[in-house]
Amino acid sequence: MSTLIAEAGTLPWLSECIGDLEQELKAGLAHSQQARLSRGLRQIAAYWQADDGDRTTFEEFVRNNLASDQASLDALFDRFQRLLEQLDGHMHEIGREFRQRADLDLGPLLPLDEIFAGYDPSAHIVDDFFKNKLAFVVLLSFPLTTLEERIAQGANWTRRQWAEVRLAQRFSKRIPAGVHLALAQAAAEADTYISQYNIWMHHLVGNSGERLFPPGLRLLSHWSLRDEIKASYEDSKNGLAKQRMIEQVMERIITQTIPAAVVDNPTVDWNPFTNQVDSAAVDDFGQTKTRSSRVSDLPEADVRYAMLLKTFRAARQADPYSPTMPSLIARRFEEDREIPENRAQAMLEQVVSSPLVGKVAELIENRLGRSLEPFDIWYNGFRPRSPFTEAQLDEIVSQKYPTPESFQGDIPRLLGKLGFAPERAQYLADHIIVDPARGAGHAMGAEMRSEKSHLRTRVDKTGMNYKSFNVAAHELGHNVEQTLSLNDIDYHLLRGVPNTAFTEAFAFIFQAQDLYLLDQAVPDAQAEALKTLNAFWGTYEIAGVALVDMAVWHWMYDHPEATPAELKDATLEIAKATWNRYYAPIFGKTDVLLLAVYSHMIDAFLYLPDYPIGHMIAFQIEEQMKKEGNIGKEFERMAVVGRITPDLWMQHATGKPVGPEALLNATEEASARIAKA
Ligand SMILES: [Zn+2]
Repeated sequence: MSTLIAEAGTLPWLSECIGDLEQELKAGLAHSQQARLSRGLRQIAAYWQADDGDRTTFEEFVRNNLASDQASLDALFDRFQRLLEQLDGHMHEIGREFRQRADLDLGPLLPLDEIFAGYDPSAHIVDDFFKNKLAFVVLLSFPLTTLEERIAQGANWTRRQWAEVRLAQRFSKRIPAGVHLALAQAAAEADTYISQYNIWMHHLVGNSGERLFPPGLRLLSHWSLRDEIKASYEDSKNGLAKQRMIEQVMERIITQTIPAAVVDNPTVDWNPFTNQVDSAAVDDFGQTKTRSSRVSDLPEADVRYAMLLKTFRAARQADPYSPTMPSLIARRFEEDREIPENRAQAMLEQVVSSPLVGKVAELIENRLGRSLEPFDIWYNGFRPRSPFTEAQLDEIVSQKYPTPESFQGDIPRLLGKLGFAPERAQYLADHIIVDPARGAGHAMGAEMRSEKSHLRTRVDKTGMNYKSFNVAAHELGHNVEQTLSLNDIDYHLLRGVPNTAFTEAFAFIFQAQDLYLLDQAVPDAQAEALKTLNAFWGTYEIAGVALVDMAVWHWMYDHPEATPAELKDATLEIAKATWNRYYAPIFGKTDVLLLAVYSHMIDAFLYLPDYPIGHMIAFQIEEQMKKEGNIGKEFERMAVVGRITPDLWMQHATGKPVGPEALLNATEEASARIAKA
């Protein structure tokens, strides 16, 4: 609270005015309500601006809106809870309808469909609520809290107190429209830079002039480059050479020694080892692109780091308007994740420094028949052999589900198989609508109880294929969570889950049952063990990436005036130091930069820690369901815990706070099982 009190008094008359009002109003209040008055006055003062009115307006506002006893406070709470459900629900409904054409496979798009899809009618609500003073009504009556307070006291709060805390939190930031716009622009610019960063693979030339990649292959950095490394494990002839070449390309991107001319340009050939650029000796792009005469080896000149700096500077503009969380780092950890940064850091370090890394690395070396190389952080060979070919699975699925309706009709049976009681399975099915997706698929929940959640998946004319079914199983997990945590929860203000990692965990649990849902064999213990090792190795990789992301954001906050070149140098140092500490002992090579290649480091505002923490959370939830032996029953119990802190949620769900132990224990068992096999 100290921050808030320090902020109060930005207007010269505020402190005195608060003192006078406190004296005047406290006389008519019960002792228990007096503390609420003092807190409320300081809270609204922290956000009140000259435009909101002069001293008289402030005083009148307080006199008119102060809930003087518990009954009026209850009335106020109920009113906000009911009306905000209407607001959120209908705004969400408008957004869903406006996106309908973009999201669903309903025929060609008109240009106006894109404009509708990009429009967000709710973008200015918080701003409006400060202007019309409804936000001040909330802040006068309900407590703003810090994450520290929510963690220290939250276990003793009633559900109603939690709901009040969430209500106040909606108005804990008053970020001006101009700052929002700057943020959106920086995000869009970084996103465009990332989404067009392609490498034309056939134009990569090795030292003997060899072209390892097929004509026309154009890979996006870094995700598709990474996936190509993964796919190359299957290529016994050229796989290793391809992987080494991609690693070299990645290092050039990170160090920005990559020639600018080779980015998304099939008219030049490039040797990433010598960095030589030549006019393309082959044509694999069908003349659709006009040939540029640009044959230059001039480096990209730190554009990558200039983009990252722009996102930092935009994010920083919001700091003064978020008094309880005055940095993007604080907002990410304390608001979005609600896991303190030092705990998140400790959990990540527990994974990357685990002795299990060495054990699993040894298993990988045995499977590869060679020592590890740095790109093996993306090793993906822990995969069970499927008893079916993809074509056989497509056949099974398309016969079962020729249309979206046929999948819709089967939902009660599918949920029954997962352990939901028949009437509960029917109830859930009645709240889910299956739509044909334009893209890969997604789940869109509802925000008010009169609305249903939507499951979007692809259904071709020949029926659903296996991939779509696998996606649909994942989305169904989301939809069931969305339905229960909205409709079966005690307070609407607590609907949902603590953060996205939790809903993803529920979705992955359904997805993992896809063969069982198709009435095919369930994965055996061996297959489960391989899956666990795969998840562990993936977490080991992404935890290091997340640690780099965090350290880079701290460095930017410590050096706000840095140039792109200085940021580059710092990032390289951080990536090397992280590698040398946690990866070099395993890989036997120092100063590797690969941990800095992740594209979301540039455009996603410190999002990366969500991935490894998400893996840990998924394991905890899954282990609990295995222990109880019933997905449906446990799912229903957990999904109504609602949006309290992640640790408290996990405590209710599994008896323990969030942490990597479930993942590490499962990995210990799995590595022993696979070592024996
Ligand atoms: Zn998902």
